Amino acid sequence: MGNVLVIGAGGVGSVAVHKMAMNSDIFSNITLASRRKFKCDDIAKSVKERTGVEINTAEVDAMDVDATAALIKETGAELVVNLALPYQDLALMDACLKAGVNYLDTANYEPEDEAKFEYKWQWAYQDKFREAGLTAILGSGFDPGVTSVFATWLKKHKLNTIDYIDILDCNGGDNGKAFATNFNPEINIREVTAPARHWENGDWVESPAMTTKYKFDFPAVGEKNMYLMYHEELESLKTHFPEIKRARFWMTFGDAYINHVTVLQNVGMTSIEPVMHEGKEIIPLQFLKSVLPDPSELGELTKGKTCIGDIATGEAIDGGGQKTYYIYNICDHEECYAEVGSQAVAYTTGVPAMIGAAQVLKGNWAEPGVWNMEQLDPDNFMDMLNQHGLPWEVHELDAPAEF
Ligand code: NDP
Repeated sequence: MGNVLVIGAGGVGSVAVHKMAMNSDIFSNITLASRRKFKCDDIAKSVKERTGVEINTAEVDAMDVDATAALIKETGAELVVNLALPYQDLALMDACLKAGVNYLDTANYEPEDEAKFEYKWQWAYQDKFREAGLTAILGSGFDPGVTSVFATWLKKHKLNTIDYIDILDCNGGDNGKAFATNFNPEINIREVTAPARHWENGDWVESPAMTTKYKFDFPAVGEKNMYLMYHEELESLKTHFPEIKRARFWMTFGDAYINHVTVLQNVGMTSIEPVMHEGKEIIPLQFLKSVLPDPSELGELTKGKTCIGDIATGEAIDGGGQKTYYIYNICDHEECYAEVGSQAVAYTTGVPAMIGAAQVLKGNWAEPGVWNMEQLDPDNFMDMLNQHGLPWEVHELDAPAEF
């Protein structure tokens, strides 16, 4: 039914193409392209062994708009799924416009030389995509992604308004390493060392990174410290649900992780300012990435579960006054590894990328323009989460979140 070009042969790209191959009624032709073709070929081999499906592979520098547009035309793809890095978002959106195809990603654009992510650069493509009759879907991973769809589903089926929303991201997994990030180390460390920011009463409230914490008892995982952070979906949620009075994002980290990041930050290893080393200019964070474990190789070692979801409070649709719901997914690292050879963090991102791509190919999300996930109808996406490895639960809580 659909011809798709996936760009980026990392942990997330690997999960997405495995799951696409398992749904060949929707994804009838799959090409995986990345900076280094051998990584695509390794994944293609695993896809063939696990599913029997042959996928095509190619080498491309996603920053090269003309080369990417030529590849899109050569493959005949109708949708590009961008699972490379956030730095490539704008170049890939340009390539899609040039080739006349739809676009989907999982992380919003970030300039390489400035640790700052904002939607303004991608939202600026709204008219170009609308005028071209093309659809661009932003942030179809878990967070952003599923957490925004959860909010839209609550607003469609349970709450007239979302007045308060907390997004809780817990990784209760352990990979046995002293220090490792569970997705691209450079992107992960840029995110966690940025100041915390949340939306409250019409304004952003900023606090130093990793200073506000709360112990929360997560379903299937147990008690973990979660830290207040800034995350990109706060910007789009407060924009598209203007009634929101407070929106916060929390992520769990163990003490060892916090200690390592603190030391690395104190000694300057997380900096993105170039420094001279033996006559050569290097960026400390990129050097650090090259000595840290590759997250796509942690799958075999990781045990435990993730639990990611939203706690939202608002006026109930059923007329029962203010109500609070907790909606979440629990995912098991070892089960993910058994199914597709990756740990749960890549799985919980790659599966929603596949499901978002399916929405575009099935014509459910077809309106021309640039859309965040909470602007789109949630129902088929939510059904597909249940069918394709990310089942969710929703519970009414007795009271709003106390933290
Ligand atoms: P990886 O670093 O494992 O993979 C990125 C891949 O992109 C690598 O194969 C890399 O090539 C390739 N790549 C990088 N630059 C280029 C380029 N210029 N041209 C072509 N290919 C390129 O990252 P992850 O798989 O962990 O993450 C992928 C994306 O998913 C990131 O944008 C990340 O922010 C996002 N993400 C989103 C989440 C969500 O819930 N929304 C959660 C986790 C991640 P090479 O192998 O040669 O380095």
